[in-house]
Amino acid sequence: MKYVIIGGVAAGMSAAMEIVRTDQAADITVLERGDVYSYGQCGLPYVINGLVPSAADVIARSVSTFRDEYGIQAEVHIDVIAIDIDKQQVTAKRVLSDELVIFDYDRLLVATGADPIIPDWSGVHLEGIHVLKTIPDTTGIMADLAETIRHVTIIGGGYIGLEAADSFRSKGLSVTIVQRGKQLAKIFDAEMAEWITAEANKNGIEVRLDEEVVRFTGTQRVKEVVTNKDTIATDLVLISAGIKPNTDFLKDTSIQRTKAGAIIVDASMQTSSQYIYAAGDCATHYHLIKQTNDYVPLGTTANKQGRIAGANMAGNRLTFKGITGTSIIKFFDLTLSRTGISEKEAKQLNIPYQAETKTANNQAGYYPGGEEMHIKLLYHRYTNHLLGVQIIGKKGVDKRIDVFATALYNQMTIDQLQDLDLAYAPPYNSVWDPLQKISRRWNRDKT
Ligand SMILES: Cc1cc2nc3c(=O)[nH]c(=O)nc-3n(C[C@H](O)[C@H](O)[C@H](O)COP(=O)(O)OP(=O)(O)OC[C@H]3O[C@@H](n4cnc5c(N)ncnc54)[C@H](O)[C@@H]3O)c2cc1C
Repeated sequence: MKYVIIGGVAAGMSAAMEIVRTDQAADITVLERGDVYSYGQCGLPYVINGLVPSAADVIARSVSTFRDEYGIQAEVHIDVIAIDIDKQQVTAKRVLSDELVIFDYDRLLVATGADPIIPDWSGVHLEGIHVLKTIPDTTGIMADLAETIRHVTIIGGGYIGLEAADSFRSKGLSVTIVQRGKQLAKIFDAEMAEWITAEANKNGIEVRLDEEVVRFTGTQRVKEVVTNKDTIATDLVLISAGIKPNTDFLKDTSIQRTKAGAIIVDASMQTSSQYIYAAGDCATHYHLIKQTNDYVPLGTTANKQGRIAGANMAGNRLTFKGITGTSIIKFFDLTLSRTGISEKEAKQLNIPYQAETKTANNQAGYYPGGEEMHIKLLYHRYTNHLLGVQIIGKKGVDKRIDVFATALYNQMTIDQLQDLDLAYAPPYNSVWDPLQKISRRWNRDKT
């Protein structure tokens, strides 16, 4: 069986490895536009701040490992430009020579991810303007930082913008975040996002909300960011204004995509075309709470979807159960986390909800070193099923968000949180966990 995989990172190589494990006679070709396989983009902000010594450290397996140890035809610098569904062929162009090459397939996986959106602002091609997605992007930023850089402007206050702001600041640089919307991190409700803005300000970051970039000025190198409100003198710009699925090459095919370009997949990761699968940031992600296809591009999901796609391409029958929309970000001393849906989303989806908020300690009140976390929990007004939580704080946020994500996945109700047998000793918790404390409000309201 001939397998062709487009894209050699999280989803693509998870699939390839699953095929290697399942089909001993597999003939696998991977077509990758870049020259690095299987690397963790999630680690790149920590290369910028030096916590991870080198960009090479985020590579899990090299191209030669895939070729020599697993017998995969791992191609580099090759850009897929078209698919012929009837002929079961992929057309690709070698980036370095422009040569066109055709590959036949029995099963095809599209795992092309998503690229940063770079709006067509005047001056956007000036030197010193970057995005953060790949290892070459990171080394480009690092090379620039070796010059005299004092001030960085980050365009977009989503998670990549926030992680990058933290990294640049920790290197002693002045940082301004320009955000088009009225709050940072729009995956959080507005009042929760205020904790994030406060943390940014506390750490010396200038946050400009409700402000839009108009153009960049400079002769060869960027000198100023001109917005609809002001002109910001700057030495380096990072554009983190969202991402777009890499699926334009499918536009002449019958493969169904969302308006934003994500390939619509079913639970087996198959597209609307029988032998063609898709996974990761280029595909849709079924959301268990919204009960519909969503787009929440994250590394954890790309790995899971890729594994399932690979297994099914090789003849197994696995299903992707769906996401609950869990994410976590380190921002200076804070941990920002969420799972399920926010109040904003509940309103958009017309889901009748009840929201509870609480500030609680991560450990027993009398035990030294306790820290607060701010929790906003949503549950269904009539069925009491959990809908989502946002938790922002310091120690212990990561554990609560994962407990809640597990509860959500298992369709638990708010009252059932109280029955959970959660770990307790004074350095780690109170006898009642913060999630249980907040759920006791439900009792209070009912009695
Ligand atoms: C800075 C940063 C931090 C992140 N942090 C986190 C985090 O903390 N937690 C988390 O869960 N996720 C995080 N993510 C997201 C995570 O990295 C992605 O969800 C994941 O990499 C998606 O994997 P993928 O295989 O679907 O796509 P990608 O990793 O984008 O890989 C797709 C590959 O396909 C190739 N390709 C595209 N088009 C073509 C074509 N036409 N022909 C040939 N090749 C092509 C591309 O070159 C690319 O190498 C982060 C991302 C970034 C950029």
